[in-house]
Amino acid sequence: MERRIFGPVPSRRLGKSLGVNNIPHKICTYQCLYCQIGKAIKMQVNRQEYFKPEDLVNEVKTVLSSIKNHHEYPDYITIVPDGEPTLDSNLGELIEKLKDLKLPVAVITNASLINLPDVQRDLLKADYVSVKADTFNTETWKKINIPHKNLNLNEIRSGISSFARQYTGKLVTETMLVKGINDSYNELENTARFVKTFEADTAYIAIPTRPPAFKNIQPSDEGTVIKAYHVFKEHVDKVELLTGYEGNAFSSTGNFREDILSITAVHPMREDAVLELLHKTNDNNSILALLIEDKLIEKLQYNGHNYFLRKFRK
Ligand code: SF4
Repeated sequence: MERRIFGPVPSRRLGKSLGVNNIPHKICTYQCLYCQIGKAIKMQVNRQEYFKPEDLVNEVKTVLSSIKNHHEYPDYITIVPDGEPTLDSNLGELIEKLKDLKLPVAVITNASLINLPDVQRDLLKADYVSVKADTFNTETWKKINIPHKNLNLNEIRSGISSFARQYTGKLVTETMLVKGINDSYNELENTARFVKTFEADTAYIAIPTRPPAFKNIQPSDEGTVIKAYHVFKEHVDKVELLTGYEGNAFSSTGNFREDILSITAVHPMREDAVLELLHKTNDNNSILALLIEDKLIEKLQYNGHNYFLRKFRK
């Protein structure tokens, strides 16, 4: 039998997250270029029952009761299958039953069905919802997300807007950057402008970190990620990078090497701020030079300033 509960695994967004796979492997409304299972996906848009919510909840209970060490207990239960979780017509009931376990519930969705009243009704029950926001331009959407033919991006846009108006939990967006597809200035500006309209709590910018099913796909490079960060920052208050490292920009260890590696995994850091950090920790420039030489961070120019960013790959 397929594994339906996994973790707890560390997640920068959610702390320790216990994953629930509420649909059978590889069923989705999209076939994203960067998806690791992209080509193998079975596409559908009709919601249906896959598993009984009580069976999934019992499996979660079994995992929770096997956790002996308090520090390993999850902070969130996250519904995040290898496919689209809102295809499950029992999603609302599942969320309700999981919440009885006294842990907050997150759903990571591509938002393709969010215009449907029953999907909205289900998602409103979750404490945290992450919606995919790769692009809001129809031509690019068809290229990057390869949607089912019955889907319509304008309906998705208005579905996200109406959901956001009603939702009282934490709503975040995730934009996956694919080189040459959705990472031009105009594309990013268009995406960020729409994200601004529904006041997402945080806009996350990600790059594909696992090998995609379509081999000719490349993640955007570090320079483009800095550009994307700044374009989003012009419109959205809270923007963070998800580049495959579990960096934490908000904790300072007092160790320059550790601090700069974790901060630059989340935010590009301007040179003056880096020098200030060096000064505070009484370290000297040679550490910085060594980190660059070891290809752990990269120095890049944007808009007349130098920035440092964690390198995605060595
Ligand atoms: S929405 Fe998620 S599961 Fe579906 S194709 Fe895209 S990346 Fe893969």
